[in-house]
Amino acid sequence: MTAPVDSQPKPSSNFLRQIVERDLADGTYAQRRFAGSPGDAAHHAAGPLDPAKVRTRFPPEPNGYLHIGHAKSITLNFGLAAEYGGVCHLRFDDTNPEKEEQEYVDSILDAVTWLGYGWESNGTSHLYHASNYFDFMYRAAEALIDAGLAYVDEQTPEQMRANRGDFGHAGTDSPFRSRTPAENLARFREMRAGALPDGAAVLRAKLDMASPNINLRDPALYRIKHAEHHNTGNAWCIYPMYAYAHPIEDALEGITHSICTLEFEDQRPWYDWLLDTLCTLGLLAQPRPHQYEFARLNVTYVITSKRRLRQLVDEQIVDGWDDPRMPTIVGLRRRGYTPEAIRLMCERAGTSKAGGWTDYASLDIALREDLEGKAPRAMAVIDPIKLKLTNFGELFGGDDRLEPCHAPANPHRPELAPRAFHLGRELWIERDDFAEVPAKGFFRLYPGNRVRLKYGFVVECTGCEKDASGAVIAVTATVVPDTRSGTPGADAVKVKGTITWLAVADALPAELRLYDRLFTEAQPDAGGKDFKAALNRASKRVVHGYIEPSLANAQPDEKFQFERHGYFVADRVDHAAARPVLNRIAGLKDSWGK
Ligand code: ATP
Ligand code: MG
Repeated sequence: MTAPVDSQPKPSSNFLRQIVERDLADGTYAQRRFAGSPGDAAHHAAGPLDPAKVRTRFPPEPNGYLHIGHAKSITLNFGLAAEYGGVCHLRFDDTNPEKEEQEYVDSILDAVTWLGYGWESNGTSHLYHASNYFDFMYRAAEALIDAGLAYVDEQTPEQMRANRGDFGHAGTDSPFRSRTPAENLARFREMRAGALPDGAAVLRAKLDMASPNINLRDPALYRIKHAEHHNTGNAWCIYPMYAYAHPIEDALEGITHSICTLEFEDQRPWYDWLLDTLCTLGLLAQPRPHQYEFARLNVTYVITSKRRLRQLVDEQIVDGWDDPRMPTIVGLRRRGYTPEAIRLMCERAGTSKAGGWTDYASLDIALREDLEGKAPRAMAVIDPIKLKLTNFGELFGGDDRLEPCHAPANPHRPELAPRAFHLGRELWIERDDFAEVPAKGFFRLYPGNRVRLKYGFVVECTGCEKDASGAVIAVTATVVPDTRSGTPGADAVKVKGTITWLAVADALPAELRLYDRLFTEAQPDAGGKDFKAALNRASKRVVHGYIEPSLANAQPDEKFQFERHGYFVADRVDHAAARPVLNRIAGLKDSWGK
């Protein structure tokens, strides 16, 4: 198990931690055996006592890219295992005969690893595929039939639906419910042998068609599907239903705490019945896994439904699954969010039974906390206009001279070598740092006003140059002598404003991608409303600006704090030293909508 790294938050307790601690104190799972690989009761009985104190699992279906909600499940399951001396399994829940999407499998492995977790422990890889358990699932189904606890139902799907009843009405027994075990077994084997077409029959558990819990009204265990499976090929034409497969997967793997989201709460009685029954039949071993439900993570200003995320990609509303505006792990990563920030945000979002919304801003807050002490500082000019220092040559010995300047790489890391750059006669400054006619409270450049060029000198604005249309194309100023930052003279001249800048001579041109929230509404798809109506049309703005020469060797994925502008990352796909491309991750403070 890879231990989560450095800025892992100090955990506060939650109901799941309390359950695990209770089970550890009670020794609930202390005598559990684990044979080193998944298997039935006999397999594990032959193994040693499990060195893992708890076993959790993250069980994605490889049918899409993971998103921020999955990150919550990953941090929760891998986090609990790490905290309590356990192991977390990564299990591909691939019981649907769908074409394997290797792309999704790879991206899931990558996402879990990137988030800081691993599935190797005690010299064993705990990477599993649910489809490897098909043989056992079939054997268990025959055992249930033998015990008179399952039957082959040949009602039409419509009849089955109608006879299930609803909240206010008990269901009606199927006419096939009274078949004998021998009849059921023969028919089930015909299903398996391919004698029946898709939809002609299902295997159902025989529970209680009048149960107030509709999940207990003879749930389906197997359906017929003449389809090739990526792992098992054409070995099967019947496939287990999720509700049947999932508890068995947990039990075969020796999971202790099976954590899922609240919508599975009504399935728990079935989960318990199935596993207890298979234990009684001797196929699985006690102590068996238990299911616990928590409220899923909902984050404002994003959507997490795989289907809707796919729509954004397919309709080219975004530039792909890893578009930096997407809440997918690949998108968050490309945007520049760090694993530490995502883990911190997930931890702070809490784990409870009560649903709720986590403010997107909490992710930015976590990011700032992570990067504040880590990311090198730099200056960047996003909306450049020239500032001409008209007395530069006079003061520094020639118009072509470059005057060296320095700045700390990171104020929290004084051990780092300072950044070096130059002051020249011509600089790039932000267009909005100049106003010909200043508004009240404007302290930056306007004719007659003095400001400090950060890490440089105080300058006094003398005016501007305009083109034929009257648009300002350059600002002019003079350097006030003896005001270099860090020298005794610096304090002699008081100014109210400080601006960032870069020398035209050594600034590096860069493409800056300024991302913002993809939606203008906090809950864009709440209540099934049309989320596309809430798209933020200004969620991506690409500008051409300048960055400090200290970024000449910036590597893809490297993060910086641009003074005044916020946190940026060198784009992991498009950035190259010869053609810098940086994404804005987040501003220096939360200013959204203000
Ligand atoms: P989606 O609803 O986006 O399609 P899913 O639940 O179908 O997601 P799975 O691959 O089945 O996707 O999910 C793997 C695990 O991630 C499940 O245990 C699921 O409960 C969990 N999970 C998915 N979304 C969230 C969320 N928003 N918060 C917490 N856990 C989640
Ligand atoms: Mg699912």
